Amino acid sequence: MTTPHNTTPQANGTSATHFDAVVVGAGFGGMYMLHKLRGLGFTARVYEAGGDVGGTWYWNRYPGARCDVPSLQYSYQFSEELQQEWKWTEKYSTQTEILRYANHVADRFQLRKDIQFNTRVTRATFDEATTMWRVETDAGNRVTARFCIMASGCLSSKNTPNFPGLSDFQGQWFHTSNWPHEGVDFTGKRVGIIGNGSTGIQAIPVIARQAEHLFVFQRTPQYSVPARNTPLDPEEEARIKARYRDFRIQNNGKPFAQDLNPPTRTTFEVSEDERRRRYEECWEQGGLGMMLAYADSGTNLEANLTVSAFVKEKIKQAVKDPAVAELLLPDHVYACKRPCLDTDYFETYNRPNVTLVDIRGTGIERITPRGVQAKGREYPVDCLVFATGFDAMTGALNNIDIRGKGHQALKDKWVEGPRCYLGLSSSGFPNLFIITGPGSPSVLANMIPAIEQHVNWVGDCLEYMRKHGLRAIEATEEAEKPWLLQVQTAANATLWNACDNWYQGSNVPGKPRVFMPYVDWVGYVAKCREVVNNAYEGFSLR
Ligand code: FAD
Ligand code: NAP
Repeated sequence: MTTPHNTTPQANGTSATHFDAVVVGAGFGGMYMLHKLRGLGFTARVYEAGGDVGGTWYWNRYPGARCDVPSLQYSYQFSEELQQEWKWTEKYSTQTEILRYANHVADRFQLRKDIQFNTRVTRATFDEATTMWRVETDAGNRVTARFCIMASGCLSSKNTPNFPGLSDFQGQWFHTSNWPHEGVDFTGKRVGIIGNGSTGIQAIPVIARQAEHLFVFQRTPQYSVPARNTPLDPEEEARIKARYRDFRIQNNGKPFAQDLNPPTRTTFEVSEDERRRRYEECWEQGGLGMMLAYADSGTNLEANLTVSAFVKEKIKQAVKDPAVAELLLPDHVYACKRPCLDTDYFETYNRPNVTLVDIRGTGIERITPRGVQAKGREYPVDCLVFATGFDAMTGALNNIDIRGKGHQALKDKWVEGPRCYLGLSSSGFPNLFIITGPGSPSVLANMIPAIEQHVNWVGDCLEYMRKHGLRAIEATEEAEKPWLLQVQTAANATLWNACDNWYQGSNVPGKPRVFMPYVDWVGYVAKCREVVNNAYEGFSLR
């Protein structure tokens, strides 16, 4: 589908100063929220810091960027016509194709006329006398709204480590999540990349093919499974599209909101041979299925060790130099850090123009004017790539001065970690909703369905309030506290918090260590339904 971009007019320049709702962010969350609000007859204004729609896919234009959830599932389901008509070309879409899709959605539903781009929300203050939010932007907007909806993204606030010497670096440096729109030509250049999470693992093979030399600075080795991306199989597409609505409904009831069948058997219930066959099958299929090889792969350490041993064996087979292979072997629990998918990641280390620099334990010592110093040695580079991730889940929210009742700042309330009920609402902040906020499955689910579930919930709630003449809704502290405990208890029953990872904030120095996403998508959806069926149990409405 090749709809031209940017054909709908933008909101810039309109003079309205009051809306039913202000939405922060025009990624998939903000876009669908706007569409939902309009459909319900509410007035809305979206503010977006970027120059256009797409959020993650607008900003993360680094080489190799693509999704790792199959395209036919990593897409909206709210419009049957949209999902039938849009044609994906690959099993896992590239960033450019996903961005094209976001633009198509904006055009198709004429979203841009209510979105103001290049505008960052700086402050949102709740006025108790009027039950209104006052929202301010860096473009000078001062508007009021009954509801303030944060669709500001879980992975939208970048983490750029404060390396000594960076300001003296004489080459060019880039963060993967703020990649130049015109692209970067690494031909003939010596490039250094710091970071080998999902982003680095996608970028490294592509940059290595172009650069004269690539130095990979690795602090922690990562597991990765081949994505096995292919052009989209037309037969599979036809099969799914023939029953797309049912396919979506089924997936919404499956782990991670994806077409992944929950395993019934446990690791040691089967023979070693059978287990081996199962792992080989997952490896050959590629994708995220390895996490669900057995029912206890993500909960029982002994079981998990069999998965990690298998993946390590594959790494050793892929990398020709045994010393390099050894450095690439992870020693943490499999899938404790977000599992990565790759195309030729480990094989890239067989290239003569790629050097793996192990900085485990010592880190980057400093950036010098001409390179990177690590382990007492200087590695000369012309360009530096930071694939160093995000201040996840709370970063974008804490960057805004959000003031609730009694002028309390959200970031003060969250000083020891985010406190939310269902990840949707925080007590003391009436009529403020967070799309995929901390305490909801968010980043541990296929995120577009997770976004849709939240937006639908918020839309239903606003309709309910209108119908019952209610002006304010707020999570109660009595509901928030046990929910926080539930989020921690659920995580503790898994191996997700068995290593340093961004789910618990350990990638950002000084960030409180609290496991933020809720690990049980299926249970969460049921809980949200139950809350509504019990007249918004856990919320106070007035
Ligand atoms: P975002 O897309 O992050 O959009 C939030 C927007 O809010 C941004 O455009 C930002 O500029 C704007 N914003 C933030 N603060 C302000 C402010 N104060 N004022 C104005 N605007 C503001 N998820 C998956 O499920 N599957 C995948 O395969 C997958 N791949 C990913 C690959 C990458 C490289 C990254 C970084 C993330 C990936 N994700 C994936 C997660 C991805 O973030 C979500 O799938 C989804 O795109 C999030 O949409 P969103 O609208 O909630 O947030
Ligand atoms: P990330 O997973 O947090 O990885 C950051 C990398 O930078 C890690 O290797 C980390 O090392 C390293 N790093 C951070 N600070 C460092 C420092 N001071 N010195 C040296 N190394 C440092 O970030 P990401 O790769 O951008 O991915 C974030 C999330 O975005 C993913 O988990 C995923 O949810 C999403 N994403 C998805 C895809 C996809 O395939 N669809 C692609 C990209 C991103 P340590 O491990 O030692 O901390």
